[in-house]
Amino acid sequence: MIIILLGPPGAGKGTQAQKIEAAQGLVQLSTGDMLRAAVAAGTEVGKQAKDFMEAGKLVTDEIVVGIIADRIEEDDCREGFLLDGFPRTVAQAEALDNMLDHKSLKLDVVIEMKVDDGALVNRIIGRYNCGNCNQGYHDENLKPKVDGVCDNCGSTNFKRRADDNRETVSSRLESYHAQTAPLLPYYEAKGILKMIDGMADIDDVSAQIKDVLGALA
Ligand code: ADP
Ligand code: ADP
Ligand code: ZN
Repeated sequence: MIIILLGPPGAGKGTQAQKIEAAQGLVQLSTGDMLRAAVAAGTEVGKQAKDFMEAGKLVTDEIVVGIIADRIEEDDCREGFLLDGFPRTVAQAEALDNMLDHKSLKLDVVIEMKVDDGALVNRIIGRYNCGNCNQGYHDENLKPKVDGVCDNCGSTNFKRRADDNRETVSSRLESYHAQTAPLLPYYEAKGILKMIDGMADIDDVSAQIKDVLGALA
């Protein structure tokens, strides 16, 4: 199965992708995570992406399309994959269509996670992740069961993203509305867009996604 989670920054894509990965064994491909890893490793891609990311702007289509094209060739993608944060422009969506055509694969569903802009700021400012296994948390909405200890791996090392601050949020939301929202009519026209209420609590959102995926099977 090939699934896209589409939604603004902070909508809950990563949170739900981690759950789907755990429940369905479908590998999560997050361009944001891959780009942050490239920045941390100081690769050529990382050097090119860093300034865009810190300013809350999209990195070039060429960079992310290259990353995804390489990644979906790997063995663990053979049974399908879940895209989180890609595509983010119509050009990226078209490039993805071409890649899948070449491999005789098809996109099963695009799930739009709809969340009001006002709620996104709080989600982004309160977000943090495990420094070891990347499990996502939130200062108010999703705390570890034991204070300061990752539920998933027991690590006590947590990290916050350099771009999760008030200054970049408005720029990231602007990018979403101007460059990513046009993907909604693009996928609607293909008849594969499903919308869910991303304002609901985390378990409720998971249940909505489960229903959408269940209806495909
Ligand atoms: P995205 O990957 O779409 O940018 P995340 O999954 O990282 O978003 O979620 C952003 C923050 O909001 C995280 O701290 C997460 O724990 C929290 N969060 C995710 N889904 C919900 C929800 N349905 N209700 C409240 N908080 C949520
Ligand atoms: P969020 O879900 O909070 O928007 P991501 O982790 O998906 O954050 O992305 C972080 C940053 O990485 C983006 O603001 C952008 O600079 C870059 N990025 C990630 N995916 C893409 C993409 N598909 N196209 C362009 N830039 C991307
Ligand atoms: Zn962990």
